[in-house]
Amino acid sequence: MVTWKNWAKNQTAHPLSIEKPRDEQAVAQVVKAAHERDEKVKVVGSGHSFTSIALTQGRLLSINNLSGIVGVDAASRRVTVHAGTTLADLNLLLDEHGLALPNLGDITYQTVAGAISTGTHGTGQHLTGLAGQVVGMRFINAMGDVVETNDSTNPEILRLGRVGLGALGVLTQLTLQAVPAFHLRALEKPMRVDQVLEEIDMHVNTNDHFEFFWVPHTGWALTKRNNRTEDAVSPQPIVRGWLDKVVIENYGFGAVCAVGRMRPQWIPRLAKALPSSGGREYIDKSFKVFASTRLVKFYEMEYSIPRAHLVEALNEVRAMVNQRGYFLNFPVEVRFTKADDMALSTSYGRDSAYIAVHIYKGMDFLPYFKDVEAIMKNHEGRPHWGKIHFRDAQDFESLYPLFGEFLQLRNRIDPARTFANEYTEKVLDGVRV
Ligand SMILES: Cc1cc2nc3c(=O)[nH]c(=O)nc-3n(C[C@H](O)[C@H](O)[C@H](O)COP(=O)(O)OP(=O)(O)OC[C@H]3O[C@@H](n4cnc5c(N)ncnc54)[C@H](O)[C@@H]3O)c2cc1C
Repeated sequence: MVTWKNWAKNQTAHPLSIEKPRDEQAVAQVVKAAHERDEKVKVVGSGHSFTSIALTQGRLLSINNLSGIVGVDAASRRVTVHAGTTLADLNLLLDEHGLALPNLGDITYQTVAGAISTGTHGTGQHLTGLAGQVVGMRFINAMGDVVETNDSTNPEILRLGRVGLGALGVLTQLTLQAVPAFHLRALEKPMRVDQVLEEIDMHVNTNDHFEFFWVPHTGWALTKRNNRTEDAVSPQPIVRGWLDKVVIENYGFGAVCAVGRMRPQWIPRLAKALPSSGGREYIDKSFKVFASTRLVKFYEMEYSIPRAHLVEALNEVRAMVNQRGYFLNFPVEVRFTKADDMALSTSYGRDSAYIAVHIYKGMDFLPYFKDVEAIMKNHEGRPHWGKIHFRDAQDFESLYPLFGEFLQLRNRIDPARTFANEYTEKVLDGVRV
């Protein structure tokens, strides 16, 4: 039996086979053959989604072989890439051309196709998620045909399908709007969380990229400001600062989490040991500042809410954590994006704040995540498609104004549901269109 697991190891699939086509033609052959046999097909990128979005009992298609740049239009700064390119590779390739993506999330292990399909985002009040950079897509439909979409060819597919949950076809190429390569000055420092919330508009409005991590069981938040600068790269400290190395990515943090898993009642004391002083400042190429290495495994839920709801929603989460007596060894991450026009984007039509909660691997996330979700529901929350949530198509019908249009597009492109799985049945089916 073939077995596949995602990065967090909370999702397992037993597909009929795992196919690794070498080129687009081979992708088309796999899809066409599966369609003719009435089998399902699902593409997996880097397996970094926490939901069952990439699972299938049919043919699992890994397109890691479809990697690299197809072409660069220097004048428009539009870059066409193979869909299986990882963001890490893409950043280096763009850099060679003096280009960069305007924003990134906090890791770059994902494939370009996987990242845009779930609405992956970073932080920045003037910036959308990664799918907002997509100006053209090329994919294989269920019949095995190549479909192109851009401003002039099939524009409605581009309009509705950039955040497509893998439900429309197999993306083989994406054209992205890049920007000239740039440097970021990173400033990371702890602040009292109440002060951050009191001044939140100032922080978000005066920085290109602002985010913070509230450390449960403490009144502290770890803040991160990244701003564009013309200044030269300044060498990173040899031992990088506490935020990444201690709090997020370091083995020491993993060990602290492991102790907390064995002795949850120690977690508040361990959290207080997290630094409340110090910080760091450095300048580097944008993509080196945005993303970091993640060595500690966890489960995650992330909700987008209207930006104006942030203070109330986060304070409700803080009160709930106290009241329920949870022992939490991971910070709660808060980020921001600007409103966009992509049908299934979590920032569709509204400037957004994102609240992300994490639980160390092997610990029970269910009660905490359900309690957080209950709060987010009261704030028009839309869950990240790639992160754990318990919502279904009925919820999304009212949360996404273009939900019906997306479903109609799907009916037209994939009427036989070749690209369906249990996840798409839950989040897309059962709604009349
Ligand atoms: C440690 C960690 C950090 C993260 N940080 C962030 C973050 O900062 N911001 C954020 O928004 N999210 C973040 N995520 C979530 C992650 O970005 C998304 O889940 C993303 O979709 C993962 O990309 P992937 O390549 O692994 O795709 P997968 O998880 O493998 O697949 C996701 C979906 O994309 C579809 N897909 C993949 N390739 C194709 C294709 N070629 N054609 C059609 N459909 C395709 C799959 O079928 C599936 O539906 C993080 C996840 C982890 C584990």
